[in-house]
Amino acid sequence: MRGVKFEVVAECPETRARAGLLHTPHGVIETPVFMPVGTQATVKGLSERDLDEDLGARILLANTYHLYIRPGHELIRKLGGLHRFMAWKNAILTDSGGFQVFSLSGLRKISEHGVVFQSHLDGSPHQFTPQSTVDVQLALGSDILMALDECPEYPVSHEYARESMQRTVRWARQADEHFRKRMEGSKTGHALFPIVQGSMFPDLRRECAQALVELDADGYAVGGLSVGEPRPLSLEMVEATEQILPSDRPRYAMGVGMPAELAEYVARGIDMMDCVLPSRNARNGYLFTSAGRIIIKHARYRDDERPIDEKCKCYTCTRYSRAYLRHLFQSGEILYAVLATRHNIRRYLDIMHGIRRAIIANSFADYLRCVRQASAEEAG
Ligand SMILES: [Zn+2]
Repeated sequence: MRGVKFEVVAECPETRARAGLLHTPHGVIETPVFMPVGTQATVKGLSERDLDEDLGARILLANTYHLYIRPGHELIRKLGGLHRFMAWKNAILTDSGGFQVFSLSGLRKISEHGVVFQSHLDGSPHQFTPQSTVDVQLALGSDILMALDECPEYPVSHEYARESMQRTVRWARQADEHFRKRMEGSKTGHALFPIVQGSMFPDLRRECAQALVELDADGYAVGGLSVGEPRPLSLEMVEATEQILPSDRPRYAMGVGMPAELAEYVARGIDMMDCVLPSRNARNGYLFTSAGRIIIKHARYRDDERPIDEKCKCYTCTRYSRAYLRHLFQSGEILYAVLATRHNIRRYLDIMHGIRRAIIANSFADYLRCVRQASAEEAG
């Protein structure tokens, strides 16, 4: 039994973009999709009702590393799994924990068996293995699990990137084997996606994708992006593997990107994306609009009665002015984060809906040209 089933409903004749439906045990997701990030089993500032009813989010991402460290996956399992714990009825994707181990934790030691690391909270020692991270994610009850991977920093040598990528492939095989055993006789459906690595070397990316395709997984992720590399390079890495990853499975670009980049990833065959940018930037005072970015603390918004984005239909934009939001931001009020996050997430979801509509209407290539022109004008 497949944990998730992917159905392509329309394809762009000029680019690699496609629109699809991803069937999960917790609902059907229209793709391409942007997944809001709920690091600590919460998208900071938003309730389940905001996300589900107001924003229409159908899938969230939660962080395996953080929930393993606190409150602990066993506690969440005892309390009925992550869906019940955070009162979320739609789909959940969990990352492998690899990225946080490599970016957050202090001392860490990689071996063939996995990675030993210290908690960033109290320095206590822990180990993630390809098998244990599957067990943690199953305890959480995630719909889509990620296989443990090594996310090398940027830049690294070709030699190290190859060694690391080959280890990631071996880990993915072990994770896959363990996952299949755990799924035997299981009543609930789950999917495990392996992650393509290979740093910024297209040959290694291709080699990795070819090896992972043999696992016949329900979907594939492209990891190791947004680690400080120039943006065109991230897109090139996605391009390198698009032809290799099976077209009847969803492809997930992890941790990308800026609003104008979303269509670029979709144009390269990506179906799923996640990023902390809309929520984190909202809290820091950066608001994304259909006419570019707003920095809400600027004095020019002091008496600006317009909404953040006149074209936006979100809760915040239909009620509140820039002047009010600026006042809340300057006063350090909690409501600011709530309203700003609501808008920024809506902006990302709206962009993805627009992209999907364009693919289905056979006008995505024009859409992409407009996005490129607008971002060139904004930059220039
Ligand atoms: Zn809005």
